[in-house]
Amino acid sequence: MTRKPLTGAELNELVAGLHKLAHNLWWTWDQEAQDLFQELSPRAWQNLYHNAVAVLREVSDYELRVHLQEAGFHRHARSVLHDFEAYLADQSTWGHKNAPDFLKNPVAYFSAEFGFHETLPISAGGLGILAGDHAKSASDLGLGFVGISLFYREGYFQQAVDANNWQTEYYNVVHPENVPLEPVLNSEGERLICSVEINMENVSFQAWRVNVGRVPVYLLDTNLPENDQHFRDLTARVYGGDSTTRIMQEILLGVGGVRLLRALGVQPSVFHMNEGHAAFLTLELIREKMAAGKKFAEAAAETKAHCIFTTHTPVEAGHDRFSEAMMDYAMHSYRTLLSAPWKDIMTLGRVNPQDANEPFCMTVLALKLSRAANAVSELHGQVSRQMWQSLFPGTPVDKVPIGHITNGIHLLGWMKGTVRQFWREKLTSGATAEMPQETAMWSIRAGIDWSATIHESEFWQRMTDPEFLPDEELWALRYRLRRELIEFARRRLLQQVHGVSPGDYIRFDRLLNPDALTIGFARRFATYKRAPLIFQQFDNIIKLCKDKHRPIQFVFAGKAHPRDDDGKRFIQQIIHLSKHSDLAGYLVFIENYDIHVARQMVSGCDIWLNNPRRPLEASGTSGMKAGCHGCLNLSILDGWWREGYNGENGFAIGPDSHPDNIAEQDRVDSANLYKTLTEQVIPSFYNRDINGIPRAWLQRLRVAMTTLVPQFTTDRMVKEYTKKYYLTK
Ligand SMILES: *Cc1c(COP(=O)(O)O)cnc(C)c1O
Repeated sequence: MTRKPLTGAELNELVAGLHKLAHNLWWTWDQEAQDLFQELSPRAWQNLYHNAVAVLREVSDYELRVHLQEAGFHRHARSVLHDFEAYLADQSTWGHKNAPDFLKNPVAYFSAEFGFHETLPISAGGLGILAGDHAKSASDLGLGFVGISLFYREGYFQQAVDANNWQTEYYNVVHPENVPLEPVLNSEGERLICSVEINMENVSFQAWRVNVGRVPVYLLDTNLPENDQHFRDLTARVYGGDSTTRIMQEILLGVGGVRLLRALGVQPSVFHMNEGHAAFLTLELIREKMAAGKKFAEAAAETKAHCIFTTHTPVEAGHDRFSEAMMDYAMHSYRTLLSAPWKDIMTLGRVNPQDANEPFCMTVLALKLSRAANAVSELHGQVSRQMWQSLFPGTPVDKVPIGHITNGIHLLGWMKGTVRQFWREKLTSGATAEMPQETAMWSIRAGIDWSATIHESEFWQRMTDPEFLPDEELWALRYRLRRELIEFARRRLLQQVHGVSPGDYIRFDRLLNPDALTIGFARRFATYKRAPLIFQQFDNIIKLCKDKHRPIQFVFAGKAHPRDDDGKRFIQQIIHLSKHSDLAGYLVFIENYDIHVARQMVSGCDIWLNNPRRPLEASGTSGMKAGCHGCLNLSILDGWWREGYNGENGFAIGPDSHPDNIAEQDRVDSANLYKTLTEQVIPSFYNRDINGIPRAWLQRLRVAMTTLVPQFTTDRMVKEYTKKYYLTK
């Protein structure tokens, strides 16, 4: 049967549709959409780091139109665009039902970083990833939501390692036209320009819109010719520069963010400060109200009634503090617009209003000016109430008004494509092995059904039923994922060494053992995360790695903050071990940790190791990403794992308590880690039946998926925020 060629008008419509799709991050969590761009040019897809916009720029308009005349590609494109438009147009979402008012007056979510996808490197770590996942789930749920952040054109640093195994940093410039960003225009169709007073200047800024499914996130950008060079560079890098840069970035984020929303005609019903960086937004809200005639106290009270605050870390350095001189310098012009006395403004950031020497703390400002505040896990809630009790004199610690909502992940965004497909095929009801037709129908149907199903406990409950998924198939999946990680690691390591000779290819092809128990560790190299802890038992670990019958091996990755030499020493130590000790071949360090590396690691490892110095890991999320791929957690009972662990869905290092003394803590944790590894993890992984299947291990994996996956998602988390904080006044 021949098909009539598409007309010019039909082609135009499809081409426009594909460009619109590429500029909406929805494709980053829809497998068919990703496959479509990959199909256009598999090589460009890989080389351009899975960037749909760049792939469309690489393929000429002419070539695209030729492709669209192919029946297969045409059908695929139509089906994806149909799903995409259906997603955008859906009027029966959770948000429509549960929070309809926000569709007109949205939740405005301010965050200094957003981690969406590897093509947009504007996030430094967990905080940004969480913000990105929050936005994606807000979109899936149909919640009225708008995000505010900065456009860092040099992003967060790229990591390289020099000949001394010392981390060095370099920056790639992000060109907006090459990534999923759209310029924000005014009603005349010109660039919308706003301004904010910083120091003595009026600094202009433009904005870029990231379309995250149904919700927009606006990124503010001072790189405009009318600004002085140092203000043009203000938004160059994530947490770049010194504390002067920091405070100025935060003025832009908070004050500028509110002004942008006003210029766009957006009247949020709630302002959510994701970490203290955004807290200057409260000053701008006070300024607005005072300009309209309100008194300071009244303006502050009204502002407080609209604001929510989430604190993300008990680590001191995570709480910005600025001296009064710095505040005065950075707000030299702005403070004159605030009709309130300067002393009153400074007081908003001080625990003790009488102490004129106390620096201005952004967390204090946020706590004083929000109607509700929360930590990001139960234990972190306890720690935060203690930490900030002095702000609420006379209040017993358990009555300090800081609650908690445990973090989560955006499931579809994190699951590797092959794994999404696998669970979908195996766990969909009715989709037994004898019914391939049924399964195929499922795949064709819109992603909407699937994205709801995947959050249901009943769906994951089927993991415990071998009728749906025999051990043999589950084990085959785990093998496939481990191999994919090992091949990824080999490719990356080959790129990491300079001057490779032909023989090296063979050497790298022997790196890591596809049969060995593979332990992953990847996160920021903040020292409290204690990356090298496991190697304290160096001689014992070597023996475990070299065990002929029950070998283990390690894959590490992570960045240290550019000014954190202690963190860099940890990296140096681990890379040194990987190259020059008996661990060579059993331990690899993958450079330049990012979302893509994270996805490869959490999917391919058998064990996800986490050994922070409790209680400093406020929540942690990488272990949740591991969970949905069937990788088991081996972790200190800190953050989310303290809530997730139930005795049979992974492994705990030590008890639900910790010594006060740090040296003692390190010693005890290291011993407990080794004990759990040798007494529980390794025996369970290598206890095989006659067919080579580790039944007990797989049982643990099934329980892990049933209990953890539907629980630790941003779907659950955003619903909780909405019910507990956004909707209640
Ligand atoms: C998930 C993730 C993090 C946060 O992981 P933690 O477990 O909270 O340390 C940091 N960076 C990247 C790239 C991630 O994907």
